[in-house]
Amino acid sequence: MKVPLSGQASVHEEERWICHTYAPKETAALGAALATWVEAGDVIAIFGDLGTGKTTLVQGLARGLGITQPVTSPTFILINEYRSTPPLYHIDCYRLTDTPAEAWAIGLDELLYDDGVCVIEWADRLSSLLPIERLDVILTWIGPREREIEIVGHGARYAALVRMLRQAKASECA
Ligand code: ADP
Ligand code: MG
Repeated sequence: MKVPLSGQASVHEEERWICHTYAPKETAALGAALATWVEAGDVIAIFGDLGTGKTTLVQGLARGLGITQPVTSPTFILINEYRSTPPLYHIDCYRLTDTPAEAWAIGLDELLYDDGVCVIEWADRLSSLLPIERLDVILTWIGPREREIEIVGHGARYAALVRMLRQAKASECA
């Protein structure tokens, strides 16, 4: 679904929303909700320590895009591609050592401007390669089953996406 833009489009616009989840399925549901609004070319950068739920969120996003095959973290092969519409590129930068040179070498920069949805775990390791306009998802461990999830839309389209998500989820995500 196309996200309607409100007001003047600006790359500097920013919108933030923080929610808490209390079970893996709630984090996955947030990812699935995101799938409603993502479109070809979108970049979703995920930040957070090991075990905070990055892959869980991507699994929900994949399910929301209609992907039925199991989604696991591409820790060893760096990129998993799923043939959904739009295609989903699941990237995990955990093992990137010499960034951004290594990222350039394997063509990650091109993928970021391709026609798929790029979802990137350990996005901080790509640093300067990340496009200015993107969706950031920052996960923080609060307790064994509680996570704080901050979602930041950079640029008018992603800011609008955050507003849509907040509106859709606010009632169930306190
Ligand atoms: P990451 O990709 O960030 O390393 P994973 O998604 O692979 O994290 O793993 C998250 C772990 O935390 C899983 O074992 C999951 O069951 C557990 N977990 C507990 N509560 C939550 C929650 N609210 N959201 C996401 N994962 C949770
Ligand atoms: Mg992971």
